[in-house]
Amino acid sequence: MDRLLDVNDLHTSFQTYLGEVKAVRGVSFHLDKGEALGIVGESGSGKSITMMSIMKLLPENGKITAANIKFSDRDLTKLSDKEMESIRGNDIGMIFQDPMTSLDPVFKIGSQLEEPLIKHKHISKEDAKEKVIEMLKLVGISSAEKRINQYPHEFSGGMRQRAMIAMALICNPKLLIADEPTTALDVTIQAQILELMKDLKTKLGMSIILITHDLGVVADLCSRIDVMYGGMIIERGTTRDIFYNSKHPYTWGLLKSIPNPQEDIKQRLRPIDGTPPDLLKPPIGCPFSPRCEYAMKICLNRMPEAFKIDDNHFSSCWLNHPNAPKIDKISGGDIKNGK
Ligand code: SF4
Repeated sequence: MDRLLDVNDLHTSFQTYLGEVKAVRGVSFHLDKGEALGIVGESGSGKSITMMSIMKLLPENGKITAANIKFSDRDLTKLSDKEMESIRGNDIGMIFQDPMTSLDPVFKIGSQLEEPLIKHKHISKEDAKEKVIEMLKLVGISSAEKRINQYPHEFSGGMRQRAMIAMALICNPKLLIADEPTTALDVTIQAQILELMKDLKTKLGMSIILITHDLGVVADLCSRIDVMYGGMIIERGTTRDIFYNSKHPYTWGLLKSIPNPQEDIKQRLRPIDGTPPDLLKPPIGCPFSPRCEYAMKICLNRMPEAFKIDDNHFSSCWLNHPNAPKIDKISGGDIKNGK
């Protein structure tokens, strides 16, 4: 497969009045043409900041301190703001959790979707209008000819999300980054939007990065999954590896928090106890150690290496070390108590 995106050793930090927050700490991943990759983790794990870094959409206090981000043979870190502007919305489309982040409430849907076409593709307003109607139909919006004259508030939540997908895809991007695209939607609409993305991926042959805190959402769309925690990728594998042969306690926690319709209705979901690490002072050892029930003494002092399970699967956890000192196994509670 042809490589579309190659991110190497990305570090992103934010200067705050309390000090430097190291939000992304050495993230590397790749994406091939036509492939869908899921990036999964709780809020604050660094997944959205990783995408904002790639798009160069960081706030003023944020900076990329090291990286090589190759997109179609161009290093994005070396491009000027103007060059990045021509890539955003044209070669790379983005969908956000809240459609109102992208849709302007004071402009009609039609004119908002025409704008990127006129700007990036330099086509006439008439041709742009035709293309917008075609795209709205493609994302399942009926009566598209009438809908283009409506404002975002006249659309339901699901329709706004569809309109935003249409906007992200209108210039036929090579890559679609979808950041929690279904979190604000009810489960029926969520399933429809995911099905739509799957269908468009096949029809348009584009690559997708799907960012979510919910492992259940990526299962059907993505062939590979990267699990992020504490600004790092702590497990990587095919979707099958992650669901059926995961080797990291944090991934186990995410899997346990997916609702299972087969289980007793009274069975409670099991959230992961504790809170994500403070990235003002990232831990020296494994960032998950204060919350991990399998933590060993070594976990507190040394960051685990990326242990290779097989060619496509790795996990950064000392439990995968052949000489893991099982005798040192202590509980998360002991660590929190400083033992
Ligand atoms: Fe738990 Fe240690 Fe593995 Fe971290 S390295 S996930 S603390 S067992």
